[in-house]
Amino acid sequence: MDIMRQKKINKITSFLFLLLMIFFNTGCKDFNKNSSCNKKRLDGKVFYEIFVQSFYDSDNDGIGDINGVIAKLDYLEELGVDGIWLMPVHPSPTYHKYDVTDYYGIHKDYGTLDDYKKFVKEAHKRNMMVLLDLVVNHTSSCHPWFKEATKNKKNQYLDYYVWSSDTTVINNNPHQWHQVKDSNGDSLCEEKYFGFFWHEMPDLNFDNPDVREEIKKIGRYWLKEIGVDGFRLDAIRFIYPENEKEKNYQWWQEFRKSMEEINPDFFMVGEVWGEDTVIAPFLDKGVHAGFNFELSFAIEKNLISEKKGDIIEKLMKSKRAYEKYSDCYFDAIFLKNHDQNRIASILKNEEKAKLAVTILLTLPGIPFIYYGEEIGMLGKKPDKYIREPMIWQIDSLDSGRTRWMNPVYSTDSTIISVENQLSDLGSILNHYKKLIHLRKNNEILKFGELSPFDVPGKSVLAYKREYSGQELIVIHNLSKTTISIDLKNYSLLKNNILFSSSENNRISSDKVEIYPYSTLILN
Ligand code: CA
Repeated sequence: MDIMRQKKINKITSFLFLLLMIFFNTGCKDFNKNSSCNKKRLDGKVFYEIFVQSFYDSDNDGIGDINGVIAKLDYLEELGVDGIWLMPVHPSPTYHKYDVTDYYGIHKDYGTLDDYKKFVKEAHKRNMMVLLDLVVNHTSSCHPWFKEATKNKKNQYLDYYVWSSDTTVINNNPHQWHQVKDSNGDSLCEEKYFGFFWHEMPDLNFDNPDVREEIKKIGRYWLKEIGVDGFRLDAIRFIYPENEKEKNYQWWQEFRKSMEEINPDFFMVGEVWGEDTVIAPFLDKGVHAGFNFELSFAIEKNLISEKKGDIIEKLMKSKRAYEKYSDCYFDAIFLKNHDQNRIASILKNEEKAKLAVTILLTLPGIPFIYYGEEIGMLGKKPDKYIREPMIWQIDSLDSGRTRWMNPVYSTDSTIISVENQLSDLGSILNHYKKLIHLRKNNEILKFGELSPFDVPGKSVLAYKREYSGQELIVIHNLSKTTISIDLKNYSLLKNNILFSSSENNRISSDKVEIYPYSTLILN
């Protein structure tokens, strides 16, 4: 009897202990949640990505420069931009500069460090954040570290890079291993170095504590001495190979912690080409945001097929994936970036290009706009041709037009200049402006939760946004025919028009009519 009783007591004790554990675990989890998380500090903002080389030439040498960006800050302010990401500005042997030779300098074509400091000051004056494009997965093969490392003698920089004589050891891909050769083409060392992207981009060895310190020193310098507000981080998932991905997450946590000592409110957004489940672990006290490539592809797909697809379900799925790792993440949403064919070239229809950005700017997240999208610039790979010169005025007047390349897609015969679009109320530029300002002035569009709103018809993309007890309904017609929605079936459907992208859209007591490729927002 006593034994039975003891067993029962043990059972009860174990059960209570389990309950306590659950309670404390949950409690601890809540306790660890970042109570100071302020989603609003960024969710209301619209960012703009600039390829400096192609943007605006201030000194007539044909190449865009930092002073050219400064000259166009008023334009960006008027457009409604709250933050600027300049593609890499450091010295580099390539036109795109994604292989750096000096992390503390500015490429001479782009100007000086003083120019950059002035840019930061001028941007801040206009309440715009500045993100530095930081490329640390690899350096240029011309970086002094790599030059030292390949002098064929033991020195401290050798271990800054990844070496092996077994070229299957990472990714099982011998093509990513490269031989150091002298000017006669003879091999200098037996071991090869790892360069994930290219032989002129040797990967840094993040197992070496000296490398980690160097990179943190670089980040701290730009935050503290130059005053940037954060970083766009290139290729973050390749710092370590897939089979060591835990070390990858840990590295970005370490980097973030070090930057927070300088500026607790700094912002880092990472490039992770991958699905939400691949991005999610990086958000765990690592990067604040990842670029949402899945959304980019989904918007493109839906506009090509003119079918609503599963954009909303996908975004809600991503949210669930991200929330597993962080309660204070951001979602960097975009149509296209400098590595993708331009949206206007894909859609081949100005009304559809307008619709694409209407969708983007009515979804939750931090929208990033790639320079030139707002004037409908065209471009298809190879990469150079998706990075063509911005068109400010007609060619003969355009003193700031960059001339470093001959554009193939965006020319005076295909694109209307910024100047001429500004004076045309129906232009794509004024559409962008209208939508950005609509978003900036509407708390529901900036901060609201997203949920599907079910309307029949494969070409009707509709969703609800809710914030602080208020809601609005966004309805897009993705097709080339006018759609009509019978209001009797939708007691929820409000009939006050917050925004209509076409003057042909109609709303009456019993139905809503939406013109081809246009949008109605009701509240
Ligand atoms: Ca220039």
